[in-house]
Amino acid sequence: MGEQTKMYRDTWAEINLDHISYNVESMKKHVDEGTIVIAVVKANGYGHGDAAVAEAALNAGASCLAVATLDEAMALRKKKIAAPILVMGASRPENAGDAAKENITLTVFQKDWLSAAKGYIKSADTLHIHLKFDTGMGRLGIRSRDELQEIESVIKGDKRFLIEGAFTHFATADSLDNAYFEQQLSRFEEMAGWMEEAPKYVHSSNSAAGLRFPQAHLNAVRMGISMYGLAPSMEMKPELPFPLKEAFSLHTRIAHVKKLHKGEKVSYGATYEAGEDEWIATLPIGYADGWIRKLQGQEVLTEGIRVPIVGRICMDQCMIKLPHEMPVGTQVTLIGEQGGEKIHVDEIAQKLETINYEVTCMVSSRVPRIYKRDGHIIGGVNYLL
Ligand SMILES: *Cc1c(COP(=O)(O)O)cnc(C)c1O
Repeated sequence: MGEQTKMYRDTWAEINLDHISYNVESMKKHVDEGTIVIAVVKANGYGHGDAAVAEAALNAGASCLAVATLDEAMALRKKKIAAPILVMGASRPENAGDAAKENITLTVFQKDWLSAAKGYIKSADTLHIHLKFDTGMGRLGIRSRDELQEIESVIKGDKRFLIEGAFTHFATADSLDNAYFEQQLSRFEEMAGWMEEAPKYVHSSNSAAGLRFPQAHLNAVRMGISMYGLAPSMEMKPELPFPLKEAFSLHTRIAHVKKLHKGEKVSYGATYEAGEDEWIATLPIGYADGWIRKLQGQEVLTEGIRVPIVGRICMDQCMIKLPHEMPVGTQVTLIGEQGGEKIHVDEIAQKLETINYEVTCMVSSRVPRIYKRDGHIIGGVNYLL
C-alpha cells in the first residue's frame, strides 16, 4: 500500500480497515484462547484488496492467511506479506517446489498428487500441507480411511512433507437447520481420529460455524465473509454473537447534469422516458466496473437521499434521476452510508437475487480501492497503473 496511487477517475471503492480490525478482534475474543483465526483473503480479499486486508487482519490478531489458489498466495508474497499462507484449493504437483520455497502451505487429498509432487521439491526443502477431508461438501477431499492410509504411507519418513493441518468445509453452517452440519462435524471428528498423528491445526469452521458453533472451532477458524463485516446468510443475521461492521463502500461523482423534457429518452434501447421535466445525472460507473445491467432501477444515495438509476446501465456509465439540479462533482454513494441513509451490500445482493459474497467480488479491478484508517485515507490501489 503505502502512498496513494494516482487516480484519474471519480469512481472508487472505499475500504474501512478499522472495521476489518474490529471484526477480527471480535472473532478472536469469541473463540477460545487456543484457537487461531485464519484470515481468508482469496479473490483479492473478497474484492476489498488482498494485501491491505491481510495486514489489517494480521495486526488485529489473525495468525495466518488463506487463499484459494497458489497464484493468490504468490501475489501476497510479492506484496511482502511474510505470514503463513494456506492455499485451500487444488494446486498442481509440479508447483509443489515453488510453494515450499515461498513457505506456502498446500492442501492435499490425493496419494498420486504426493507421489508426483516429490520430484519437484528439493531434498533440503519441506512443503507444509493440510489434508482436506470431504465430510459432505462433495467438492475436494479424502473420503475413506484407505485413501488416508495411502497418503500417510507416501509421506511417512519423507522430510519433504510435513502434515501441519487437517480440515473440512461445511455445506450448511449458515442455515438454521443444524442437522447436516452436525452430521458433517461428527464425520470430521471420526476421520481426523483416523490420522496416525494429530497435526498442529485441525479446523472446520468458516465464518458461519465460527459465529454459531463453538464445538466446531477446534483449534483454528477460517474467517472470510464476517471479517469483511457481512453476515454469511440472511437467516443468520438476527443470530450474530457480536455485531459486524461492513468495510466496503462504493462511490462515484456526478459527471454531467441536464434537464430532460417530458417524452425525452435515456440510454440504450431508449427504454426510459421522462414523464415530466426531470433532472437526469450521468455517473461514470457501469457494468464493466461490476455495476451490472440487472441493477437498473436500484437506488443510490446523493445528498443523503435515495434516487433511482433510470434507463439501461452502459459499460462505463449509468444515469440517475435527481429531485432537483445538483452540481457536477456531487458525490454519489452506491454502497455505503451517506447523511444517515445507508445502502447495505445485502440490499444489492437481494436486488440481484444473490449473496453478499458475490457483490463485493464482482466490483471489477477497474475500480480503484482506497483504504481508510481512523477516518483518514492511508493509501490506495489502482490496478490499472
Ligand atoms: C472461502 C472459504 C472459507 C471462508 O468462508 P466464509 O463463509 O467466507 O467465512 C473457508 N473455508 C474454505 C475452504 C473456503 O473456501
